[in-house]
Amino acid sequence: MTLTNAASPLAGALARNVSGPVLHPGDSGFTEELAGFQLGLQHRPDLVVGARDSADVRAVLRLAAAQGVPVTVHNTGHGMRFAAHGGIVLTLRRLNAVVIDPDARTARVGGGVTWDQVVTAASPYALVPPSGSLGCVGAVGYVFGGGISLLGRSDGWASDLVRSFTVVTPDGEEREVGPDDTGAFARLRGSGPSGGEVVTGMTIGLLPEGPLVGGGLTFDIGATSGEGDPAVLHAFREWTDAGLPEALTPTLRVMSFPNLDFLPPSLRGRRIARVAVALRGSAEEAEQLVAPLRKAARPIEETLAPMRFTEGARVHAEPDDPGPYIGENILVDALDPAALDSLAGAGGPAMVIMNIRHLGGALARPAAAPDTVQGRDARFLLAAVSPVDPIVSLTNPAAAHNTSSPGWALEPFAAAKVGVSPGFCVGPRARG
Ligand SMILES: Cc1cc2nc3c(=O)[nH]c(=O)nc-3n(C[C@H](O)[C@H](O)[C@H](O)COP(=O)(O)OP(=O)(O)OC[C@H]3O[C@@H](n4cnc5c(N)ncnc54)[C@H](O)[C@@H]3O)c2cc1C
Repeated sequence: MTLTNAASPLAGALARNVSGPVLHPGDSGFTEELAGFQLGLQHRPDLVVGARDSADVRAVLRLAAAQGVPVTVHNTGHGMRFAAHGGIVLTLRRLNAVVIDPDARTARVGGGVTWDQVVTAASPYALVPPSGSLGCVGAVGYVFGGGISLLGRSDGWASDLVRSFTVVTPDGEEREVGPDDTGAFARLRGSGPSGGEVVTGMTIGLLPEGPLVGGGLTFDIGATSGEGDPAVLHAFREWTDAGLPEALTPTLRVMSFPNLDFLPPSLRGRRIARVAVALRGSAEEAEQLVAPLRKAARPIEETLAPMRFTEGARVHAEPDDPGPYIGENILVDALDPAALDSLAGAGGPAMVIMNIRHLGGALARPAAAPDTVQGRDARFLLAAVSPVDPIVSLTNPAAAHNTSSPGWALEPFAAAKVGVSPGFCVGPRARG
């Protein structure tokens, strides 16, 4: 069922029972309320409701359930896969409280909190959360997929640190879900909510900040018009196969840039490989550890340096501007040399950014409580992202997915596939 007009009884009941904004299409603030990181999809609900607190979430779910109206949850939009047409979109960004307990070493975070808010709040206590490459990702949405942090090999899955979730069930009841609630706790840590649940808060463990060295080594591996030199890619494989300390979490990113004026001259028409490095250790240790990569090729840029966790975005140096994109991934237990050759030479119709995250270490250890995380048995996560035409995507997401999915770039690695990580499967796609 959808709401057909602004004066529907449900819209009126929501306006009376919810303290946050209740907006119809055309209302001032409607479009802004639906803003997000993914520009290849756009929710088109009959109403958007901005929850201010857990009571708002309970009221929205209860009133919508009574009328059979679907509710879609929207936070930062990083992980959007589908756009809602009709019904209610419930936004969570006002559930933004962060409370640090320095003695218990935990953070109590609202359902709409982003990692950079937690990093900032924990920093005065020399504590850090298990946050990832980009601080503007939602903390709760991230742990639904397990959550691979900057220091995943040292610190384990982010979901391993979750103590409890506060969940509002589709009928509007609130309950605390922790290790005693084995089934739901396992599902939320690795697979996420089911059947319309909304997580309004979570308590998660923090880690001592300690010394961090982070940054990247960037290599030019050839012109986009020709085959790239795979030497650095092979050096990364040999380096990781030889065994790295758990304190080190490296990621290899391979990109080919079109020859377009808006790009810096050093990137125009070039194939670039960048190894992002995060080390719980000293600058000297980092230098020794990356020596085999330097031996393989001379970097065109190096940013490896001691840093605070508040500067963690420099490790992966990902763009933080919203855009239209599709992300696919596979988990593998080995990097096939022939597949790396094809990655160095991959042109393809769409520009693909391939991130090869080295797993293992603490990410391979079993969780203290059962979970549904994918990837403990994998050595690498290959996450491919490509831009998508926003116009095609907004009018026909399934067609945009068929033409722009970067899945083809993962195929050469598929012989070593052991799974797929749901958290890195994002952007427009066919339903079902
Ligand atoms: C640029 C980029 C960098 C990333 N880096 C990392 C990384 O380093 N490590 C990592 O593990 N992952 C990473 N991810 C993946 C990211 O963790 C997932 O995309 C995650 O789903 C984002 O959650 P969100 O709440 O920010 O996004 P949203 O798109 O708002 O939410 C994602 C899904 O979760 C649901 N949801 C979100 N919050 C709630 C809630 N409180 N209650 C109920 N449902 C909710 C939404 O309805 C939606 O279906 C990255 C993604 C991007 C795009």
